Amino acid sequence: ERKQLHRLRREPTRTRDGVDIKLYANAESREDVAEAHALGAAGIGLYRTEFLYLQRSELPDEEEQFRAYRDLVLGMTGRTVTIRTVDLGADKADRTGLALRDEPNPAMGLRGIRLSLARPEVMETQLRALLRASGYGPLRILLPMVSDRAEIEGVRREIARVSTELRGEGHAIADAVDIGAMIEVPAAAIALGSFIDIVDFLSIGTNDLVQYLLAADRINEALGELYTPLHPAVVRLMRDVIRQAQARGIPVSVCGEMAGDPVFAPLLLAMGLQEFSLHPGTLLELRQVIRAHDLATLRGRCGSLLRARDRAGLERWMERCQPA
Ligand code: PEP
Ligand code: MG
Repeated sequence: ERKQLHRLRREPTRTRDGVDIKLYANAESREDVAEAHALGAAGIGLYRTEFLYLQRSELPDEEEQFRAYRDLVLGMTGRTVTIRTVDLGADKADRTGLALRDEPNPAMGLRGIRLSLARPEVMETQLRALLRASGYGPLRILLPMVSDRAEIEGVRREIARVSTELRGEGHAIADAVDIGAMIEVPAAAIALGSFIDIVDFLSIGTNDLVQYLLAADRINEALGELYTPLHPAVVRLMRDVIRQAQARGIPVSVCGEMAGDPVFAPLLLAMGLQEFSLHPGTLLELRQVIRAHDLATLRGRCGSLLRARDRAGLERWMERCQPA
């Protein structure tokens, strides 16, 4: 069976009825990037930059960040690389002093894009490094924990300012860099129409979206099955986001753990999802599952998916959608 998977390295991720699905990789390490490239990933869909800030006492400077981002872009040889601005919060204990200590509720605290906007000098350094790396290949910038339009406007203003500055200094940066928002705060999903005109792409972060939507801590094991994407609210909201993005012609992917679990592939395909981002370790397995499905059949079952009333109903739906 391993051998059969191995053979899929050079095969397209194409449904039985001939629709190509894009599989991006969530990658952090050099090994992840090499593996993603070897397995034919469409690009990097999520590069979390937190690790650059962890396990050290000083913030990474522009040069260090620039080299990391540039090497990533070069390593993917022309395929799109999506780099997320730092998503630190009190839950990830950095020693640089960037994230606040002892927040009463770190998941709802000063994290992600909120922290970047609160520390403009830290954001400026990261944006300078990212924009400089954009001169070496296709790079997109992804913003974590977005909850409203003003945050995206704030980052866009800073990007415009920093770009002008960099060009003035003689750096060859990309003419335009795509800016995307993570959809992981329910407010952003519900009010997507209020800022969709100022984003170039979207990435649904189901790890946090499920947590906030169901008020179920993603790391609290006592909650057991309460923390699950198999809830009608999650399904409806995701389906809404995907539909709105597609109506606008904006690429939308799912980059949470849900995308990397092949069990959920039929559900995501039925919702209309055409881009997944997952750890390279399960990329071939997902490719194999997608190749076994008929997309038109699944899309035809989206109505019954949306009518499922509980977890059991969603599980029955998934069972009925096993490929023949
Ligand atoms: C998510 O929330 O689904 C996500 C991909 O981001 P992280 O796991 O880093 O919070
Ligand atoms: Mg998240």
